[in-house]
Amino acid sequence: MDLLKKLKHQGRELSHRALDSHVRLGVTGLSGAGKTAFITSFVHQLTSGVKNTHLPFFDVMREERYLGGRLAKQILQIPRFPYEQNLQYLQKSPPMWPPSTTSWGQLNLTLRYKSTSALRSYVQRYSELDVDIVDYPGEWLLDLPMLDMDYRAWCEFSWQLFEKKHRFEHALDFKKSLENADLADTSELTISELTKAYKDLLANYHLIAGAYLNQPSRLLVPGSFDGSPMLQLFPLLPSQCTQNSALFTKLEQHYNSYCKHVIKPFYQEHFSKLDRQVILVDCLSALNAGFEALTELQQALRLILQSFHYGESSLVARLFKPKISKVLFAATKACHVTPEQHKSLTLLLQQLLHQPLKQSQYQAATTEAMSISAIKASKSGYVQVDNLPQPCISGLTLDNKNMTYFPGDVPSVMPDEALFAKHAFSFLALSPQTWRDTSDLPHIRMDHALQFLLGDKLR
Ligand code: GDP
Repeated sequence: MDLLKKLKHQGRELSHRALDSHVRLGVTGLSGAGKTAFITSFVHQLTSGVKNTHLPFFDVMREERYLGGRLAKQILQIPRFPYEQNLQYLQKSPPMWPPSTTSWGQLNLTLRYKSTSALRSYVQRYSELDVDIVDYPGEWLLDLPMLDMDYRAWCEFSWQLFEKKHRFEHALDFKKSLENADLADTSELTISELTKAYKDLLANYHLIAGAYLNQPSRLLVPGSFDGSPMLQLFPLLPSQCTQNSALFTKLEQHYNSYCKHVIKPFYQEHFSKLDRQVILVDCLSALNAGFEALTELQQALRLILQSFHYGESSLVARLFKPKISKVLFAATKACHVTPEQHKSLTLLLQQLLHQPLKQSQYQAATTEAMSISAIKASKSGYVQVDNLPQPCISGLTLDNKNMTYFPGDVPSVMPDEALFAKHAFSFLALSPQTWRDTSDLPHIRMDHALQFLLGDKLR
């Protein structure tokens, strides 16, 4: 870059910061929660036109002050969110959901709008807001509590979890491998074999519905840590932790190293720079998977929310000075239920979050909960049953069957075990609708999400 260009660029960056024209938005959620669909839709809604009449609750658009959005330059060393590729998947025939991302990625946008501020309108013909969208797996946040445990406590925590009904059977092989292990043997071969057995268990848990809480998160998706000895990490049986064996000592070193070189840097380098955060939650799949799954989802959310506890003695405050000012909790895939159930879906999400939010001491951030569909896959309407209108949705199932049906009620309070014993929830997954890039991307309440996340910055 020549000097003039460089000065211009720096000047623009500085003036944007001075005018508070830059937002770093984190988007997270557990695997399958809908991060990829959310970011794809979010970016499309902002870049596909200025007269977006299907975003009525997004003030800047409704007030016709929006002048357009475009993808901005990416920083070369940061993985780019595959936005264009995702749109291609949606336009395939038949349309397909884009593949979920498993690591972190970023996409930068510049939005142009007419400000409502008299001073701004006087100084500038238009204003600009830079938005960096940072996508990262919610599973990374589940590692945070490991900082507050030592290796021994983590082993106990893990085995308590593996005793749960929906996990117990799956852990038997790994348990047997540990029982047969020689605790004095710390050879490379032994440790890597046991790590492989634990990895297989985590991979298995990843596939069964409702096993959300899997630590350490980078064992399955190591990214740049691939091959590093600290990722040879698994929980010994609690009974094996009492003997200070060579294997225990070695694993304790790996555990401490993982905390220091993986968890802490993530918070210090990435998380600490976020201004706003979206947390996506797939409540409907947890309901389908049963009582244990819903309970584990609640436990996972409680651990995730620890990252937003900003009290002085909190774990995060000891790592960095947090600055996240807005957190949006969104129950995703609302198009899998009929519209009058959306309220219950939001209430259920609030119930899942209620305890952790009540316990949190931060309150520095404004929070909101809503149910959304980033990419709406169904049409809703009514059918006549016994001469009475009954709400229904119609859509294409994943095995390509056109269906019109009532998916069932969503409980607005945490259902107990007795209810699950009487009633099995079955909210079907749907394929995306046929779509061409020239039309609006159908959604539910993305305008509410945009307004909450960006509305105040686009005034
Ligand atoms: P990620 O793992 O958090 O990135 O999750 P994805 O965005 O890849 O979503 C996982 C799956 O959930 C998708 O393949 C879809 O089947 C479904 N899904 C995600 N978002 C939506 C949505 O807005 N509507 C519907 N109907 N399904 C969705």
